[in-house]
Amino acid sequence: MPEHTPQATKTTCPYCGVGCGVLAYREADGSVRVEGDPEHPANFGRLCSKGSALGETVGLDGRLLQPEVAGRTVDWETALDAVADGFRRVIAEHGPQAVAFYGSGQMLTEDYYVSNKLFKGFIGSSHVDTNSRLCMASSVAGHKRAFGSDTVPGNYQDLEQADLLVITGSNLAWCHPVLYQRIKAARAGNTDMRVVVIDPRRTDTCEIADLHLGLAPGTDVWLWNGLLAHLAREGRADYAFLEAHTEGFGEAIQIARETAGNVPTVARQCDLAEADVASFFRWFAATGKTVSLYSQGINQSSVGTDKVNSIINCHLLTGRIGRPGMGPFSITGQPNAMGGREVGGLANQLAAHMDYAPETLDRVRRFWNAPNLAGAPGHKAVDLFQAIRRGEIRAVWIMATNPMVSLPDADAMREALAGCELVVISEAMRSTDTTAVADVLLPALTWAEKDGTVTNSERRISRQRPFLPPPGQARPDWRALCQVAERLGFAEAFAFDGPDAIFREHARLSGFENAGSRDFDISGLAALDRAAYEALRPRQWPVRDAADTERLFADGRFFTPSGRARIVALQPQAPANAPCPDFPLVLNTGRVRDHWHTMTRTGKSARLSAHTVTPYLQVHPDEAAALGLEDEALAQVESRWGQVMGRVRIDAAQRPGMVFVPMHWNDQYAVQGRVDAAVNPVTDPLSGEPEFKHTPVRVRPVAATWHGFLLLREAPDAMPDCAWWARAQGVAFTRFELAGTEDFESLPELARRLLGDDGDWVQMADPARGTFRAAWLRDGRLQGCLFMGPQASLPQRSWLSGLFDQQQLATRDRMALLSGHPPPGQKDAGRTLCSCFGVGENTIIDAIRRGCRDPEAVTHRCQAGGNCGSCVPEIRELITRHARPVNRRIA
Ligand code: SF4
Repeated sequence: MPEHTPQATKTTCPYCGVGCGVLAYREADGSVRVEGDPEHPANFGRLCSKGSALGETVGLDGRLLQPEVAGRTVDWETALDAVADGFRRVIAEHGPQAVAFYGSGQMLTEDYYVSNKLFKGFIGSSHVDTNSRLCMASSVAGHKRAFGSDTVPGNYQDLEQADLLVITGSNLAWCHPVLYQRIKAARAGNTDMRVVVIDPRRTDTCEIADLHLGLAPGTDVWLWNGLLAHLAREGRADYAFLEAHTEGFGEAIQIARETAGNVPTVARQCDLAEADVASFFRWFAATGKTVSLYSQGINQSSVGTDKVNSIINCHLLTGRIGRPGMGPFSITGQPNAMGGREVGGLANQLAAHMDYAPETLDRVRRFWNAPNLAGAPGHKAVDLFQAIRRGEIRAVWIMATNPMVSLPDADAMREALAGCELVVISEAMRSTDTTAVADVLLPALTWAEKDGTVTNSERRISRQRPFLPPPGQARPDWRALCQVAERLGFAEAFAFDGPDAIFREHARLSGFENAGSRDFDISGLAALDRAAYEALRPRQWPVRDAADTERLFADGRFFTPSGRARIVALQPQAPANAPCPDFPLVLNTGRVRDHWHTMTRTGKSARLSAHTVTPYLQVHPDEAAALGLEDEALAQVESRWGQVMGRVRIDAAQRPGMVFVPMHWNDQYAVQGRVDAAVNPVTDPLSGEPEFKHTPVRVRPVAATWHGFLLLREAPDAMPDCAWWARAQGVAFTRFELAGTEDFESLPELARRLLGDDGDWVQMADPARGTFRAAWLRDGRLQGCLFMGPQASLPQRSWLSGLFDQQQLATRDRMALLSGHPPPGQKDAGRTLCSCFGVGENTIIDAIRRGCRDPEAVTHRCQAGGNCGSCVPEIRELITRHARPVNRRIA
């Protein structure tokens, strides 16, 4: 037999905005192996824990494989007819503005382009928006206000070349890990490089910080206005640059002086130590090569656009833009948020970075030969769903997103969608919170099957190439859109025969009557044939000819009517909803290290599900004491809009007065786990981006008479019937964390229901301690085990999890089973901390106790931290807690 040597497919990671290149291999056994692409300029071979586990997410379990209409499986023709007929009926009765499209930063640029062209150009609805509105719209609005265009000026090399890197509103270590690793490596090689992290929470990103500014939430504009005033006062303004290339600086400096004119004022407004503010200002003033990197902590705010401009202002004032190692840098959350912006996939954009202006409307109408081009901006995401709720929008097509989990005020949004006349959903997964309200379900391709392009945060266009065949009836989103367009009478304009044809048209439009007047121009790629498109290497736009563009604004020319950048005068404002006696805390939401969005993919991976198993709420020890919260116990966070429940994590890294809850959990993975049900729907007036970082809430403990966990070899048909559960995928089992209010006498009966009992059943009850433990085996093989007790502190799950690997339970393991602890001679690895190598916390602690005193030594001993490095901050913390002083012999 010839040896199977799989060919690598070069593709791009579908998770965050770093846009890492991936080599994907199909192994002989059908599994998929991935490696970082050493030639891709975003990652040079690195991958984070999520990227490394991509091969575990491509299975077909849970996939939507056939179209459905009204819950019945149908063929594509029937489904497409239902979509076209439904849209035609609504348009005939209520006009084109009664239909909408809601897309996603997960979509490929080609899918995005076709959806935007169909809805805006041919149906005539401007209500085309995207979940990218929820993560980076404030950056778009800030860029356009300052530069006259939505331009990220720099590139990833600038982050490595900077002597001062300011990371604000971003837990880069968890949310953009490969970029964080690149910065960490650059810092190790440049002893002059300083890092400042600005974030109310002390996150893992602070591992590389020379200074952490844990400012009061929402006070960023005071801080950056203070810096602006300081730079002007200290003579750091570049007046030659200001005079030649900017406008508005006089008024901006004046207002900055009035609102944040000295260090004590800034320190008081931001609740920071004066010395820390002074250090930050001094370092920024003194360091020419400064990059300010920002993300959702800046964008997701009712004053997000002002925050963005307050950062850009300081770079414009000092002329630090468009040159190596300097500039403001917005990093996007999603893999193709930038691609969506490029095609015009936002309700206030038209196409190809053109707005709704008379001359651009005329230009796009002529280019598309579009009969019904929408004439004015449409509803932004939150407004769009509120318009559905009001009955103004009666038909909506949702693609590649799960808005019932990700929108603020998510319960109200669910009601809105449930009442909508026609809801069409293109999805790869059969059961999500959003597919539950669909009238028509269209099976979509997912990462391993998709063919097209994405653009990362440094304007780099990369190919996503398929390496698995389309499963079942699933087909590309662009094709479904074109087939509906055809049924609506627009066949000629949507006669694309592949993604390369769409890309060519997109590239041509970007250069159409451009002549340097618009930043987005990839006309240099407009003549690619299929083979050249197939082979396309990562390119950084603008690409007007053969060359890429590494940086923009090097010539000091901007895209405003005057050609000058605008320094915006900013009056600092507090976030829209302030804490009050009924809701005294501030809810902050964000990501965990190993999960992505609503877990439809990462939730399939046992490796990724092991690091953070349940939804949680992180509170400061002072808050926990005041509220009577115990570590690991259950608690509820409640706002005016809704609730979320999770386990308590008491952590001094959390700022007092705030509570952090991750964004990922949903009805498929936990009871009351959707944090966005509690998030207020207020938005930034310019960008329309919601305030995910600042909702007034209260927190209360949730009474439970018992806590427990359940490990089951076979995933159950129904979720556990107890007050609270959270589910996570294991290697050979499904894990549930549980809590309930039943009394002790009821536990055996409940256990039988939860665990199943058609085999050998063993149990152990201790009424005095209130504990109940049970397991069942079939033919000597462990099928499930359940541990219940009055406290959340129960045996660790790792050793028990390993028992599911055994075909036949060893006698000594069987005897130890209900103790929950390994028999003598075996070790419990503990909670998985290093996802890449599956190394548990106890193994790392053991390494530390054996003398490892730094993360490198721990890696050397047990591999932990040796791949993506995301767990290194946690390893460092374990070293701090567990390293014993070395005993020295006294001579
Ligand atoms: Fe994917 Fe991780 Fe790279 Fe982001 S940093 S693109 S999640 S591998």
